Amino acid sequence: MYQRARASSARIFGLMDEPSKLEQDRNAAELEVTEGEVEYDDVTFGYGDEPIIEDVDFTVPGGETLALVGPTGAGKSTVLKLLLRMYDVDDGAVRIDGQDVREVTLPSLRRSVGYVGQSSYLFYGTVRENITYGSFEADHESVVEAAKAAEAHEFIQNLPDGYDTMVGERGVKLSGGQRQRITIARAVLKDPDILVLDEATSDVDTETEMLIQRSLDRLTEDRTTFAIAHRLSTIKDADTILVLEDGRIVERGTHDDLIDDDGLYAHLWGVQAGEIDQLPEEFIERAAKRTAEVDAETDDD
Ligand code: ADP
Repeated sequence: MYQRARASSARIFGLMDEPSKLEQDRNAAELEVTEGEVEYDDVTFGYGDEPIIEDVDFTVPGGETLALVGPTGAGKSTVLKLLLRMYDVDDGAVRIDGQDVREVTLPSLRRSVGYVGQSSYLFYGTVRENITYGSFEADHESVVEAAKAAEAHEFIQNLPDGYDTMVGERGVKLSGGQRQRITIARAVLKDPDILVLDEATSDVDTETEMLIQRSLDRLTEDRTTFAIAHRLSTIKDADTILVLEDGRIVERGTHDDLIDDDGLYAHLWGVQAGEIDQLPEEFIERAAKRTAEVDAETDDD
């Protein structure tokens, strides 16, 4: 226990010593989203001295969907954290409709970008409060409409007190898929210009996944969307797929383009389709090496 406490406190004090790098520019203006175009202009970034992503360069036209795929640790979440400005780039720039995210106010940036993440977090409160979080002035009709769009209305109606049922810790226990649909309803209601979906359909059964997928399709239509997914079937229809490996873009294109290229994406697709015996030996060796690295990292924790 002593060893463990020592490791934890070293980590906490390390964090406390870390200067807050995010500073709002004194001349920061409100972000104004018109088209919803997002541009990564030769972005390089690392949490420490080592770069984690390097020379990442792409543009998502307003309204399109960009999917990020690649092995664990490739840097997909890191790319998205820079858009939400949880960290600042070391080199290059991230721009929304031509405005550098470092030159706009943080509240206006956070208002424009909606996030549906891996662990669907609900706080202790009613279903309604959980949905209206961030859109506090919403009336009952818009809450119901958002819940319907998220395929959540039906199960909410079946809860003991409907929209007034207490959920979250100490509240009625909801399944992972139900929690996720409530957070999707929250995003629908917020109606952000740009949407970030980080592994939005993990931990649910196939039927729920289909329902969630249907609601997400509606949510992402005509809205600039970034999606990270391990299950490639969920991002197959993205306008552009970027494949990241070790922090660099190694492939880009539509699903069909990438299958034709027969590179990393095509191999990952093959694995998920169960075509394991058709994989080149080199691919399996690289995967084994990577898994060993990830396991070693996990052991350190
Ligand atoms: P992915 O989303 O593709 O799995 P991540 O962007 O989460 O990859 O991680 C990329 C690399 O950055 C990994 O090696 C990971 O250990 C490291 N990393 C992620 N978050 C942090 C952090 N907050 N501090 C230091 N290193 C991090």
